[in-house]
Amino acid sequence: NKQWLLKSRPVGEPTPDNFELAESPVSEPAEGQFLVKVIYMSLDPYMRGRMNASKSYAVSAELGQPMTGSGVGVVVKSRHKGFAEGDYVMGMTNWQSYWLSDGTGVMKLDPARAPISTAVGVLGMPGLTAYVGLLDIGQPKEGETVVVAAASGAVGSVVGQVAKIKGARAVGIAGSKEKCDFVEKELGFDICLNYKDPDFVAKLHEACPKGIDVYFENVGGAVFEAVFPLMNDFARIPLCGRIANYNMTADPEGPNKLPAFFGDMLVKRMTLQGFIISDRYNRLPDFLRDMGAWVAAGEVKYKEDIVKGIEKAPEAFIGLLKGANFGKLLVQVSDD
Ligand code: NDP
Repeated sequence: NKQWLLKSRPVGEPTPDNFELAESPVSEPAEGQFLVKVIYMSLDPYMRGRMNASKSYAVSAELGQPMTGSGVGVVVKSRHKGFAEGDYVMGMTNWQSYWLSDGTGVMKLDPARAPISTAVGVLGMPGLTAYVGLLDIGQPKEGETVVVAAASGAVGSVVGQVAKIKGARAVGIAGSKEKCDFVEKELGFDICLNYKDPDFVAKLHEACPKGIDVYFENVGGAVFEAVFPLMNDFARIPLCGRIANYNMTADPEGPNKLPAFFGDMLVKRMTLQGFIISDRYNRLPDFLRDMGAWVAAGEVKYKEDIVKGIEKAPEAFIGLLKGANFGKLLVQVSDD
C-alpha cells in the first residue's frame, strides 16, 4: 500500500518536503470490514487547512499519518455483509492506494448512471457546495447578477451554470485566458474575466452594469476587493472559501479596511454567511435529484483535471493552491 503521510507542517506554501511516501503491505479486512482499491483520489483546497495544527471546524491531519481526503474505488475483498467484491464506492479513502473500511460514511456508486469520478466532483462534495451556497444562501432571482471566481474549478463552474439555470446573469472570474474562454464558450457563463489582466477592475465594472446581487466568495484577496464596491443593496455573499489566503503567513500590509467593510455591509443591508458543506448534507437528496438531471441533460457540464499516479499527488496539490489545475483535480491511483 502506498500512502502519502504528512511529514511536517508547511509555513506558507506547502513544499514537497512536507509529504512523505510510505509503502507497507496491503492489510486484510477483518470481520465487518472490506478492502477498497482506490481509483481516484480527490484533491481539494480544504486539505491545506488540515495541514495546520491550528483549531478549525475539522481536526488537523496528524504528523506521520496519511493525508486525509475522499476518493472513489472498487471493493476487492469483503467481510462485510453490505459490500461485495466489485462494488464501486466513495468514502474517506485518504491519500493512499488501498483503504480498509467498516462502511461508515461510504456511498455505493452505480457506474452506469454517471462516471464514478463525478462522486467527488460535480455530483459530490464540490457540486453540493455550489448548490447549497448559491441556492440556499445566495438565492439568485431572475435577471440578477451573480459573480463567482475560480470559475473554471470544481465549485465555481457549477455556481455559474446553476445561476444561468435560475435565470440570472453569470459573471465568472478566472486566472487565465484559456480558463475564461472555456467558462464562456463551454460552460455558458455570460462573461468571464481574467483577474490577472491589468484592466480587470474596469472590465468588471463593464461586465456588471447593474451591480452585483450575489457574490459567491471562493477566493478573497484582490478579487474580493474588486468585487465588493459593486455590491447592490440587499446583496448576498455566500462565504465558501478564500483560497487567496490559505498560504498567508502574515496580515496584508496597508490600511485596516474593516470599518469601511462593515459600513458598506450595513448601509447596503447585505447578507454574508459563511458555511461548511459538511453541515448541509440534509440537502443531498434534493441536490442529487436536481444535479443528476442537469448533468444528464447536459445543462451542467463539468471538467476534470486528472493527474496520473499517486506519486504526483503532492505536486498536484501544491499546484491547486495557485491555479495550476484546470477543472476538478483528481489523482488517478489505479485503472478503473
Ligand atoms: P478549484 O477547482 O476551483 O481550484 C482552486 C482554484 O482557485 C485554482 O484553480 C485557482 O484558479 C483559484 N485560485 C487560487 N489562488 C487564487 C487567488 N489568489 N485568487 C483567485 N483565485 C485563486 O477548487 P474548488 O472548486 O474545490 O474550491 C473552490 C473554493 O471553494 C476554495 O476556496 C475551497 O476552499 C472552497 N470550498 C469550500 C467548501 C465549504 O464547505 N465551505 C467546500 C468545498 C470547497 P484560477 O486559475 O482561476 O485562479
